[in-house]
Amino acid sequence: MIEKYKLFIDGKWVESLSGKTFESINPGTGEVGAIVSEAGAEDVDLAVRAARKAFESGPWAEMAPSDRGRLLYRAAIKMWEKADFLAEVESKDNGLPINETKSIVLPGTIDVLEFYAGLANKVHGETLASPGNRFNYTLKEPLGVIGAIVPWNFPLMLTMWKLAPALAAGNTIVIKPAEQTPVSILELAKIFEEAGLPAGVINIVPGYGAVAGDALVSHPEIDKIAFTGSTRTGQFIMQAASKNLKPVSLELGGKSPNIIFDDANIEDAVNMSAFGIYFAQGQVCAAGSRLFVQESIYNKFMDLFVKRAESIRVGNPLEITTQMGPQISDNQLKQIEQYVALGLEEGANLVTGGKRFKEAGQGYYFTPTIFENVTNDMTIAREEIFGPVVSVIRFKDEADALAKANDTIYGLASGVWTNDLKRAHRMAKGIKAGTVWVNAYSFLDSAAPFGGTKQSGFGRELGVQAMDMYTQSKSVWIDLNENVLNWYG
Ligand code: NAD
Repeated sequence: MIEKYKLFIDGKWVESLSGKTFESINPGTGEVGAIVSEAGAEDVDLAVRAARKAFESGPWAEMAPSDRGRLLYRAAIKMWEKADFLAEVESKDNGLPINETKSIVLPGTIDVLEFYAGLANKVHGETLASPGNRFNYTLKEPLGVIGAIVPWNFPLMLTMWKLAPALAAGNTIVIKPAEQTPVSILELAKIFEEAGLPAGVINIVPGYGAVAGDALVSHPEIDKIAFTGSTRTGQFIMQAASKNLKPVSLELGGKSPNIIFDDANIEDAVNMSAFGIYFAQGQVCAAGSRLFVQESIYNKFMDLFVKRAESIRVGNPLEITTQMGPQISDNQLKQIEQYVALGLEEGANLVTGGKRFKEAGQGYYFTPTIFENVTNDMTIAREEIFGPVVSVIRFKDEADALAKANDTIYGLASGVWTNDLKRAHRMAKGIKAGTVWVNAYSFLDSAAPFGGTKQSGFGRELGVQAMDMYTQSKSVWIDLNENVLNWYG
């Protein structure tokens, strides 16, 4: 049976005003997974008004911070109760292997909610060092109505990165899921509803970027846009938001370097470098898609790495033994194929993969792919492919590795594999990226800030730092003098 979903506005499940719907496709089968009401600009307007009303007055506006935190904890408990169900919904909607949604995505997402639930009553201003006859303090206030726009690769997780700190700080929110993956976010709204969240605090408006997304970014009553997606869309969003000088935070694309020095533990580097690129079918902003290998260990490393890539079990994301599921869509498959063709055209050597994996069925499956003899100026080393394709590049020494790693428009994440402590710290300082993993890849934690530099965006999600993205300081002055200063007197 095909599930039907409506928009969630002002605490109610409603059809879009136009009556339009769109299909959410299950990428594992290529079949329609759900039919979803499609928000237009007029629905977004209703959602923003509801969020504004809930922010300005009523139970949410009056709620004590501790009670806000308690409510978020209640939602987290409900998420744990429904974690297996949510994992399945997510795997069906976006193709992540069920083993990854169950053991990585859901626990990580709920942890984020719990982390910010705990911060709800720890938001505070400061008493400042003012002269004796004056008193100056700051109030740390929520911004108001947040517009959140999220991509399809980790719908629940990337929504929670915005939703949890925004609500903990007392804001209200309107969320625009990606058109490919609205379902798990709508299920999340049900959980918050059951937890007792007042009407209008969370509103979900699934729809297309150019319509619902644009309406949200351009809406004058939105106080901030929190966006995760491609660098190109990030540029549009910044432009649109500039019309009414709306603040934006942008978590964008990457072409992250993963650097293997000859003194590293080779087996560990092989295993985690494979995870670094093939996790979530390579549809990860921080994917280690440029793999730099030191010349002196090149052959030894590549032997093991190719074997590891070829051993990955590609297949139905709902099978617990599956290690790599389908890409999100046929479009995405075609884009990956174009990059493979470009790699060959520009002279790279295709070592393994490079084609669809039809044995897995009707979905959008691709083989784990490795290109070697790649140089940093090739298109496959410069552009984000967002698929299971890694470009392997040789390097001579530390200076060569650092220069090549930083030769990119992106700066999201990076990996360094070495047992030399001093070198590890030198590299961590030298790499221009928001995250450096040493002898590791893809670690995330609710307490550790995550975000990019250069064209990977700006702002930091997660950690206590993210609370700064959803609050502002107000400076309050009080004159303590008996006689008020009369400058012109
Ligand atoms: P995308 O930019 O195509 O879409 C992201 C969201 O923006 C979707 O909800 C889409 O509907 C919306 N959108 C599209 N055009 C819009 C417009 N004109 N106005 C407003 N909204 C619009 O990205 P995608 O293909 O869904 O996701 C993949 C990209 O996301 C990759 O580049 C990846 O690197 C990036 N990403 C970054 C991070 C990070 O934390 N830095 C995390 C995950 C994904």
